[in-house]
Amino acid sequence: TFRALLVEKAEDGAISASVKDLQDDRLPDGDVTVAVEYSTLNYKDGLCITGHGGLVRSFPHVPGVDFAGTVEASDDPRYRPGDRVVLTGWRVGEVWWGGYATRARVKGDWLVPLPDTLTTRQAMAIGTAGLTAMLAVMALEKAGLSPPKGEVLVTGAAGGVGSVAVAILARLGYRVAAVTGRPEAAAYLRELGAETIIDRAELAAASAKALESERWAGAVDAVGGDMLMRVLKQVKYDGAVASIGLAAGAAVHSFTVIPFILRGVSLLGIDSVMRPRDERLDAWSRIATDLPHDKLDAMITEYGLADLPALGPAILEGKVRGRAVIDVRR
Ligand code: NAP
Repeated sequence: TFRALLVEKAEDGAISASVKDLQDDRLPDGDVTVAVEYSTLNYKDGLCITGHGGLVRSFPHVPGVDFAGTVEASDDPRYRPGDRVVLTGWRVGEVWWGGYATRARVKGDWLVPLPDTLTTRQAMAIGTAGLTAMLAVMALEKAGLSPPKGEVLVTGAAGGVGSVAVAILARLGYRVAAVTGRPEAAAYLRELGAETIIDRAELAAASAKALESERWAGAVDAVGGDMLMRVLKQVKYDGAVASIGLAAGAAVHSFTVIPFILRGVSLLGIDSVMRPRDERLDAWSRIATDLPHDKLDAMITEYGLADLPALGPAILEGKVRGRAVIDVRR
């Protein structure tokens, strides 16, 4: 048997989540079986635990969009029992059963071997959030960003993606400004390497101006909505913004093309879910070198499977700081 957080839908449509012992024959088809050690909590997991957003179509369901653990059995020649692996994305935890379980069965194509320098716990402190932050930094670099070009802004900074983005950028020598709605997170963000803390309220409202003073060489935006547009209006000539999230919503009501056509600003779309395997390998090896382990440790709060029914709503309300790591064996 294995233990899992099972999300069930009652006949009246009510969604509930609880820890259950399940028989191994409930595991889905796949070519690699993994003894999961750690999973994590992402915004999307909050949606899947609570049944919001229509991401989960089939119940009962085991959420958890990422996991790290050790291969137990494999029909895929690339993996052998004992190998340490990590999985993020591929709609695992949404369409497929995910990492909130002591055992998972998936396609070998979806797995990445864990770099030797990272533990499975560290891999999940990074998780989808960290991979996405790294992909955003890599996209900004490809668009020409480098430390001498100026300050880089991170929105939703005390969240999972934001925290990792701040730490990586600071480590790479960038001056980082962090936008947060939680003043009490300022010391934490400074610890991760942010030089300037900006109150969310300063950027939350739409501005009537087509352009504002040029301030940022680049930005990583986890918030979306009108804040993304405010940021675009403040980006320096030829700068770029990596759009990774929608914590404040998907729609940009104040949209204008002026920053693109007068300042040559670029908007870079970042998706971590369907990223090809070779790019994931690159990103994980960059993470292993560019994300300081002490900073990573400072982001972690550890929980067990039984904590997840309360954590799901909490992350949707923006109340989870940094990275919530789930030890599925606890
Ligand atoms: P998270 O830990 O909840 O972080 C989101 C942060 O955004 C919050 O901590 C909060 O930061 C800020 N925020 C929340 N509500 C806000 C609002 N109404 N207005 C302004 N700021 C608000 O979630 P996450 O896992 O890091 O994910 C962040 C976003 O990225 C989500 O939208 C998620 O779906 C998306 N995402 C996308 C990808 C991809 O592949 N593109 C991958 C992972 C995540 P402060 O408290 O500091 O203000």
